[in-house]
Amino acid sequence: MAMLAELTHRCPLACPYCSNPVDLERKERELTTVQWKDIFTQAADMGVLHVHFSGGEPASRRDLEEMVEHACKAGLYTNLITSGIGLTRHRLKTLDQCGLDHIQLSLQGVDEQMADHIGGYKGGFVRKMQVAEWIAEIGFPLTLNAVMHRKNFDHLEETIDIAIKTGARRLEVATVQFHGWATKNRAALMPTRKQAKQARLTVNAARERLQGVLVIDYVPADHHSDYPKPCMGGWASTGINIAPDGSVLPCHAAQTIKGLTFEKATERALKDIWYQSAAFNAFRGFEWMQEPCRSCDLKTKDFGGCRCQAMAIAGDAAATDPVCIKSPLHETLVRQAEADATGEAEIEYRVMSV
Ligand code: SF4
Ligand code: SF4
Repeated sequence: MAMLAELTHRCPLACPYCSNPVDLERKERELTTVQWKDIFTQAADMGVLHVHFSGGEPASRRDLEEMVEHACKAGLYTNLITSGIGLTRHRLKTLDQCGLDHIQLSLQGVDEQMADHIGGYKGGFVRKMQVAEWIAEIGFPLTLNAVMHRKNFDHLEETIDIAIKTGARRLEVATVQFHGWATKNRAALMPTRKQAKQARLTVNAARERLQGVLVIDYVPADHHSDYPKPCMGGWASTGINIAPDGSVLPCHAAQTIKGLTFEKATERALKDIWYQSAAFNAFRGFEWMQEPCRSCDLKTKDFGGCRCQAMAIAGDAAATDPVCIKSPLHETLVRQAEADATGEAEIEYRVMSV
């Protein structure tokens, strides 16, 4: 249904919660405009409905407009996931003319001080708010995406207020997920159990109050839950990711799973990778499951949770996600999360190594 096109890992921001891999791809290894256009054509032909232009910061690519135009003409619904940095009024107008359907703008904090500190980019908040004004003026449907963690969870109400002020139709309250760069910042960003509990109450109250005004999507704190989320709606079932170098992945963290080989869209047809590759078929269906998932009634709802999290904590991608209360590693995960949540660690910014 949806393709995440990671056009580049370059980004002016340096968010410590970034889910991009620690080993970021350099510009020289990025796909060309022609290669990306071919991927969008193939995606539309195989039935993909929706493409998310993502990164890094997709506006770092000067050919963004050309790619958006191509994807729209191929019949894909297009969404731009951006920090706003690198977008001018002129570029936004051009993107509108190219057919861009929707924009998702990230929010690092509720004021200049907090947002610029978390994003590691001075002046970022002011520019982002300007971009939000241009988005409203042009009339793009807007989603605001706020990654929430220990340092900003206490400002959730103000985050919701900003979503309303910017005219967003949707707000994603996404509790930090510990993949990529975020794993380096567990002790700095892990929310407390109390924050996680309060966030749910705040979200539920706001959903009630703002019916017809703002839709709120909520990604709860994994590490303070008893059951896992249905990660990606099940492995290789509805989503496909393309990394900047053309690697085709079932999710953005899949390369952390040892033993799987991910093919490149420049070397094999996308359709063949989706239907036939060993990596995409590794965790489809239920045959691969171990106990307790195999005999659990909830397996059709959560698909055993996140394969990357199982790999990271259990050392086995086919294990039950340790977030699940039935996993033998659940207690270990809870204890580690509680230790991280009381830590005093400094944040480590995302940087591209030289
Ligand atoms: S999370 Fe932050 S650093 Fe990572 S791509 Fe998004 S804006 Fe850039
Ligand atoms: S045992 Fe497996 S299928 Fe059952 S709830 Fe836990 S993770 Fe989900």
